[in-house]
Amino acid sequence: MEQLSNKKRKANKEHICDWCSLKINKGEIYANQSNADEGTVFTWKNHIHCADLMDKIGAYDNGDGVSTDDFQEYAKNEYQNIMSKYHNEVYESKDFKYPNFEQQLKFVLEFHKIMSPQQLEGISI
Ligand SMILES: [Zn+2]
Repeated sequence: MEQLSNKKRKANKEHICDWCSLKINKGEIYANQSNADEGTVFTWKNHIHCADLMDKIGAYDNGDGVSTDDFQEYAKNEYQNIMSKYHNEVYESKDFKYPNFEQQLKFVLEFHKIMSPQQLEGISI
């Protein structure tokens, strides 16, 4: 696979992030890549904060790129790590229920200070 371009763009309409599968809002700056794979050109779009998170937790390390499934796996694992390290009592309690993926992701983004609580409040990611 070959990367043809990698640009930051302002969204003219809503898109779906290829990593978290959540919405990229109109007007939001996002990453837009063109890739060529055996003669086929395809576009990959992702949130800037999703890329920042992958950098932060070192998810590029397998050298193979991070697929949508990988991303969601990494984000969920990170959520579990943080919960068991810093909120173990809640996490281990019998009443604990996993929030949905969007909430897990927001929690992880806030924990790593990639987005502030104020920023997170204003967006639906
Ligand atoms: Zn995303």
